Amino acid sequence: MARVVVVGGGFGGMASAVRLAKLGHAVTLLEARDELGGALGSLEVDGFRWDLGPSTTALPAVVRDLFRKSGRPLERELDLVPVDPIREHRFEDGTNLSLPHGRAAQERAIDEALGGGGADWLAYTTSFHETWETIRRDYLERPWAPELVDRATRDLVFTRDTLHKRVRRAFKDDRLRAIALHGVRLEGHDPRNVPAWMGFLAYVEQKFGVWTVPGGLSQVSETLVKRLGERRVEVRTGTTVRDLVVREGRVVAVATEAGDLDADVVVVAIDPRGLPALARYVRHTMPAIPPVVCHLGLGPEAPEMPAEVVLHSNPSIVVRTTGQAPGGGQAWTLLGRGQLAEDIVTALARLKIDVRPHVVTRVDRSPRELVEELHGSPYGVQWQGRRTLTDRLSTRTPLPGVFAAGAHATPGAGVPFVGLGAALVAQEVGPA
Ligand SMILES: Cc1cc2nc3c(=O)[nH]c(=O)nc-3n(C[C@H](O)[C@H](O)[C@H](O)COP(=O)(O)OP(=O)(O)OC[C@H]3O[C@@H](n4cnc5c(N)ncnc54)[C@H](O)[C@@H]3O)c2cc1C
Repeated sequence: MARVVVVGGGFGGMASAVRLAKLGHAVTLLEARDELGGALGSLEVDGFRWDLGPSTTALPAVVRDLFRKSGRPLERELDLVPVDPIREHRFEDGTNLSLPHGRAAQERAIDEALGGGGADWLAYTTSFHETWETIRRDYLERPWAPELVDRATRDLVFTRDTLHKRVRRAFKDDRLRAIALHGVRLEGHDPRNVPAWMGFLAYVEQKFGVWTVPGGLSQVSETLVKRLGERRVEVRTGTTVRDLVVREGRVVAVATEAGDLDADVVVVAIDPRGLPALARYVRHTMPAIPPVVCHLGLGPEAPEMPAEVVLHSNPSIVVRTTGQAPGGGQAWTLLGRGQLAEDIVTALARLKIDVRPHVVTRVDRSPRELVEELHGSPYGVQWQGRRTLTDRLSTRTPLPGVFAAGAHATPGAGVPFVGLGAALVAQEVGPA
């Protein structure tokens, strides 16, 4: 049995902690804030309740696997349900595409809404079938290191082809280009710096759909908090980790303001640039900056909207409507990117969704405030071309005894990838 200290109580840290505890280790979880969950938390004001960050997840199998491998299956705790249509895309020219789940349904919807292009979209998404199989096998389901994979996988992941170029080749229609690039742009990346294979996300969403928990995805976090207790993980909130203590080339403790905590194994599920012992290994990384976030509490007369609407313009605004509200009202979250020279609710009104008369309450978070509140960006490392593959930490770090999970480690940000990263940490540390 190893003494494991997990740094960071977001989804990445909690998922690593429950898995390692189930494997028989003595686990302590350290979180700087007074509550666990990180970006997977929730926010409640005046009876309105919003997911702080994620409202849906791709690859539901990852969350299911986490719950199965750490105790009871998810189905006994929560309903994970598909969101269909996945999202609606609206363009300034009046095009309105409700994108469903499934190949044939997507082809039909695109042909109808855009007056053609469905076959191009299918050709694009299908072109990632082999890519997905390779990435899943060599990048997502086993710890990543260039020397551990064969030549074909290395050629694929280190390609000079970018997502931007791939999408330009695949589509003449700017609307399809915008749809294909929406995900990486929302996560704060420039598609010219993202490798082409990251386009597999469109294939994965089409094939497996996106999923949520009715009432808010943050309930996954609440269920994990319960599981930490069941697995006897010692949780210390309000505890900021300052550094790792390394002796004779191996980690021996974690340094906090309250003193050092001895450890045989440390799992770092935060931005490692903040820990001097790790900072030099990640000096070339930069964080991907979150969007502008605005949580709105709306009265009962506000217009009804689908679960997620993407307004393609500058600024681009994503409207998520799945929060909980009292008295027949609605709880929306707006995510803004681009030139936001005016208030985001005013910008939304200009894009023909005017909820200004219905706002009962609102909570705004600038990108900077969000990063400060969560002690790092929940979007992890920004893609800066293929060098990011080796610039960011992989599961096994250069420091013996130290493993990396969370959005800043391979395979990256987002609920599915952070969940896969925690599974990789458990795989590497192994049973007690
Ligand atoms: C607005 C928004 C919308 C999003 N939407 C989606 C979505 O729809 N679908 C999706 O899949 N993903 C989405 N994401 C991304 C997803 O939320 C994150 O990638 C994921 O939750 C990151 O988890 P994490 O544990 O790595 O990091 P975090 O959630 O950031 O948690 C890190 C934790 O570590 C703590 N910490 C940091 N430094 C220290 C320290 N020195 N000592 C102790 N504790 C420390 C922090 O306080 C924090 O609690 C969204 C994110 C945001 C912000």
